[in-house]
Amino acid sequence: MFDRRGNPAGLLRYTSGMAAREPEVDVAVIGGGPGGSTAACRLARAGRRVVLFERDRFPRFHIGESLLASVNDVFDEIGASDLVRACRFPPKWGATFLTADGSIERFADFAVSPEVRAPQTWQVPRAEFDDVLLRHAGASGVDVREEHRVLDVVFDPSGVTVTVRSPAGETFTVRAGAVVDASGRVGLLARKLGLRVDEPRLANIAIFSHYSGVPRRDGRRAGDIRIVARHDLGWFWFIPISDELMSVGVVLPRAAFDALPRMSHEALLEHTLAQTPAAAALMHAARREWPVRVEKDFSFGARAYAGDRWLLVGDAGSFLDPVFSTGVAIALESGVEAARALDRGLESGDLSARAFATFNRRQRQRYLSFRRFVLAFYTRGFRDLFFQPRPSALVFRAVVTSLAGYWEPSAATRAWQTFFFLLARVQERIPFASRIPEVGTGRVAQDAVTSAVSPSPSTLPRA
Ligand SMILES: Cc1cc2nc3c(=O)[nH]c(=O)nc-3n(C[C@H](O)[C@H](O)[C@H](O)COP(=O)(O)OP(=O)(O)OC[C@H]3O[C@@H](n4cnc5c(N)ncnc54)[C@H](O)[C@@H]3O)c2cc1C
Repeated sequence: MFDRRGNPAGLLRYTSGMAAREPEVDVAVIGGGPGGSTAACRLARAGRRVVLFERDRFPRFHIGESLLASVNDVFDEIGASDLVRACRFPPKWGATFLTADGSIERFADFAVSPEVRAPQTWQVPRAEFDDVLLRHAGASGVDVREEHRVLDVVFDPSGVTVTVRSPAGETFTVRAGAVVDASGRVGLLARKLGLRVDEPRLANIAIFSHYSGVPRRDGRRAGDIRIVARHDLGWFWFIPISDELMSVGVVLPRAAFDALPRMSHEALLEHTLAQTPAAAALMHAARREWPVRVEKDFSFGARAYAGDRWLLVGDAGSFLDPVFSTGVAIALESGVEAARALDRGLESGDLSARAFATFNRRQRQRYLSFRRFVLAFYTRGFRDLFFQPRPSALVFRAVVTSLAGYWEPSAATRAWQTFFFLLARVQERIPFASRIPEVGTGRVAQDAVTSAVSPSPSTLPRA
């Protein structure tokens, strides 16, 4: 018997007063974003009793619309590949990076790397994408409770007591064997346990909205995310999330933001777009369809990603500046890995930190491995080399492997990556390669306009 949302109706009835001693569910999941839905879904498909609490009612807006190729593996594992394909989201084969004046373009096509199993992924309007994954979790047997906010989590030797507020404002508790915190940047557990580690070097600000009337390319490059570099180490994203809409945002390092004149966020987004010829060219006939939104200081890690009876999934554990679109991929992969670890722990009767040591280590490594790329992107040395007209195909392939989401590449790929980072550090201090054009203000050059909006030839570097 299922309710109208596909949940098993009346299967689980939770206590409204004192907590029962025996767990009513194997796992309680906090948050129904991609990380929470994936963890809950994978556990339910393994036959575990799972309840998921989500404070909002879906569909709801969320930023984070460009996926990486590595998410295909997760969709397969939770049986969601056909569902996602049926949504007909814009297909994404890679990313196109442009200099501020639009004179240099670098296509990072995920297919250049033989280590990328399925190079095509998606650009997703998150309201719809997150809703599809949450419904899939419900249909897989998860007890999904929307508009239920988790207020607190208390651990004891025999289980976890989760305190929840219902839509009617009533407070009740649930006893679980373990808890997955997938509450996003709210980070309920990380804050409670004092686990957050800030990233002052990535204290950036993002200002963004959705627009119609932004031109896109033809063919395989039509679904690329376009990243336009700014002279002040900031950058823009252009993500085609539907046939009509383009998600457009600027990310500014704190120092660059402080150097700009004070103005409203709407004006600041327009000002920065107008300042950057390649971006201005794309926005020539654009119309804003959504309010302008702002996110700031969004990067952080955690001292630990798992402990006795708890695991942190996705943004609830760590979050990286979005330049390489790693957020949803990390959320999905950590969701599936948390579920595997919990499934094994429930099987063996060991839900201690020791049982989750591998998850903890891998989550830290995943974060550090992407963090290396993100930190490097905010240096001139990295950008100079990345935009070189004829990059070495071996080095380029190695970089693209990680940009596609494959953070554990072969030893050879890792060696090429290390070589690239080394050269970028040298270029930063003693420039040996040509510098990328620095354009801050001024009129839009005609060649920049042409380059930024015209269909492009395939320019994969050759070996
Ligand atoms: C400016 C910007 C641009 C980005 N661009 C990209 C991109 O292009 N590609 C990409 O992959 N990533 C991007 N990201 C990152 C991406 O948004 C996140 O990494 C991703 O959403 C993480 O998923 P999650 O499931 O961990 O958390 P979320 O998607 O945030 O989900 C967490 C859920 O938990 C719920 N919740 C919170 N507190 C509670 C509570 N107490 N009780 C119950 N429920 C609760 C929330 O309502 C929410 O639905 C971007 C982020 C920013 C800030």
